[in-house]
Amino acid sequence: MNNIEPWNCEGVSARELAERFGTPTYIYSLQTLKARWFAYKNALNALPHLICYAVKANSNLALLTVLAKLGAGFDVVSGGELQRVLRAGGQAQHSVFSGVGKQPWEMQLALSAGIHSFNVESAAELRQLEQVAQSMRLIAPISLRVNPDVDAQTHPYIATGLKENKFGIPMEDALPLYLEAARSPHLRIRGIDCHIGSQLLSLSPFTEALEKILGLIDQLAAAGISLGHLNIGGGLGVAYRPEEIAPSPEEYIAQLQPLLQHRSLTLLCEPGRSLIADAGTLLTRVILLKPGQHKNFAVVDAAMNDLLRPTLYGAWMSIQEAEPSSPTTLAESKVWDIVGPVCETGDFLGKDRQLSLHSDSLLVVTQAGAYGMSMSSNYNTRCRSAEVLVDRGQCHLIRRRESLDDLLATESALPESFHVA
Ligand SMILES: *Cc1c(COP(=O)(O)O)cnc(C)c1O
Repeated sequence: MNNIEPWNCEGVSARELAERFGTPTYIYSLQTLKARWFAYKNALNALPHLICYAVKANSNLALLTVLAKLGAGFDVVSGGELQRVLRAGGQAQHSVFSGVGKQPWEMQLALSAGIHSFNVESAAELRQLEQVAQSMRLIAPISLRVNPDVDAQTHPYIATGLKENKFGIPMEDALPLYLEAARSPHLRIRGIDCHIGSQLLSLSPFTEALEKILGLIDQLAAAGISLGHLNIGGGLGVAYRPEEIAPSPEEYIAQLQPLLQHRSLTLLCEPGRSLIADAGTLLTRVILLKPGQHKNFAVVDAAMNDLLRPTLYGAWMSIQEAEPSSPTTLAESKVWDIVGPVCETGDFLGKDRQLSLHSDSLLVVTQAGAYGMSMSSNYNTRCRSAEVLVDRGQCHLIRRRESLDDLLATESALPESFHVA
């Protein structure tokens, strides 16, 4: 027996959600998302600013609409993401386009939509963008993404601000490239940006990067190039483990603000994870229990295709029973590995978790709003989860569960007459 409270989202219980929408399902709390948004908004109150939500963290149309209604701009990394933003009612004028490999059609799309700026990541991209703009008789607004070579002290797969990473332009190459851009009638310099990595739990790498970039901004000013904005990217972390502490948006901005005094720069930021992670929960049900001599496995109906972070980054995520066990359920507290049905040893949601489980338990993986659904796949021909937004007791299905027909819709059979020679 344990005495946990039943889990609920804005008053709706896990049981009710599971009965209405099935499992696995991603559940989002509107009030939590709002609270995270206003934490940023209030922190930035005293500065001219633009918050560009990083769409790749979670790109559900309904969530983008919520953020657009709250006044968010967006950071997109593909033409597809830009189209989502536009369909969700977001404004291109408040959005930036990042990514190391933008294609001409994506540049055209963003130019005709009126994007706030392209975060340009290489000399080759700058020249290609200039050509695209010229062919459209438009002027492309640009920012150069510089790589400040700082160690974000995060997982190597999500560190992006080191010299050896594929992202951004080396600091020493930035000045000549800005001078080149300044000479082009088809490019307009709007600002500078950086993004040093994701899941940062320490603020010092942000300060270090900002100081380096401010130094570069001074160099640019001396060369006659003045910038309208400074974009510090995203990357603020989330405390996934109980022993971790994540700086709040207030602390984060308060740390950077003194460095920006007496500079007439608009501050842009691109938070993804720190806006949406806490708002999302993955609800899953035990399929069967497989206790053993060496390991106890709880096989659940969510898997690495639904939530890749543990598999890809070895990420630790909190997993709890959604309901207290009652004497009738015969749950026994044991140390369990929570695994999915996918045929990979790397398919696990969590290892060595002390939980009271029975053969039909509901579990919640909390803080799963970021890089959960957006990284999901159909591996093992598994249909993607449903998504539900809860607003003070009211549930909105914002993505229906995928069907096998949806999943197979883009594949074609060979003609009847086809012979395998
Ligand atoms: C992924 C990404 C972000 C968001 O990072 P978070 O860690 O989710 O805040 C911001 N900017 C760029 C350029 C990115 O690639």
